[in-house]
Amino acid sequence: MILEGKNVLIMGIRNKWSIAWGAALSAYKAGAKNIIFTYNSESSGEKSKQLLEEIPNATLYQCDVSNDEAIKETFNKIKEKFGRIDCILHSIAHANTEDLRNDFIKTSREGFLHACEISAYSFVAVARIADEIDLLSDDASLVALSYYGAEKVLNGYNVMGIAKAALESSVRYLASELGNKNIRVNAVSAGPIKTLSAKGIKDFNTILDVVEKRAPLKRNVTKEEVGDVVTFLFSDMSRCITGQVIYADNGYEIMGI
Ligand code: NAP
Repeated sequence: MILEGKNVLIMGIRNKWSIAWGAALSAYKAGAKNIIFTYNSESSGEKSKQLLEEIPNATLYQCDVSNDEAIKETFNKIKEKFGRIDCILHSIAHANTEDLRNDFIKTSREGFLHACEISAYSFVAVARIADEIDLLSDDASLVALSYYGAEKVLNGYNVMGIAKAALESSVRYLASELGNKNIRVNAVSAGPIKTLSAKGIKDFNTILDVVEKRAPLKRNVTKEEVGDVVTFLFSDMSRCITGQVIYADNGYEIMGI
């Protein structure tokens, strides 16, 4: 039970297909003491409420990460009820639909800033506010979810690739600073998974087909498998790992052509 006694905060639950849900199931199986979720929209809140029955020690809070005050308010409520938090998963991203449909060169200023704000900056805000209000335990582990599009061009991933590159770099800077407090910060770069967010990406089914054919393990990953990697990074088993981007992609990232 590698998460026994740990308070785990999972930010970005939408429905049963969410990677956040895979991570929650893994954390639950690994013995987490409390699993605390945050959702954004009302519809995600409704869908997630139904899921909660599957995890007895789970709680749900609303939190829009585009607003620092909202993050602070939610974190204060969580601290009041659960005390300090040992693990945070940031499982949040958003880009305007047109910026995933049009050519990248047509990305608007507003669309560029929006994707980077929600998908990258919000992780910095989460880490900063959690640190400021002393929400994090002495050996806390923070994890964000990234994708291969941070480093290679994938048709249709567009501005989200830029946001993920900013996220991965933020992971390194945060790890460097928070390491003084024994807090670890890492990212998991997950292989493609059919979620509601992924449906917004043009030709997503083609990406799934190519990965299945070319990945060394000849299959796509599941949200539960990605969740297990997150659990490893949350646990003391990974206590000497920080500032890394760990690929959970059945090896696809090592392939040339
Ligand atoms: P998902 O279930 O749709 O989760 C995305 C979450 O982001 C939703 O819960 C959404 O909430 C939340 N979100 C968007 N704007 C927000 C805001 N302003 N404040 C708070 N939350 C907000 O899709 P997913 O695929 O599991 O995505 C989770 C993470 O995994 C993302 O970072 C994604 O980029 C990453 N990832 C996904 C894949 C993949 O192939 N699926 C691969 C690698 C990495 P609302 O819907 O309620 O707004």
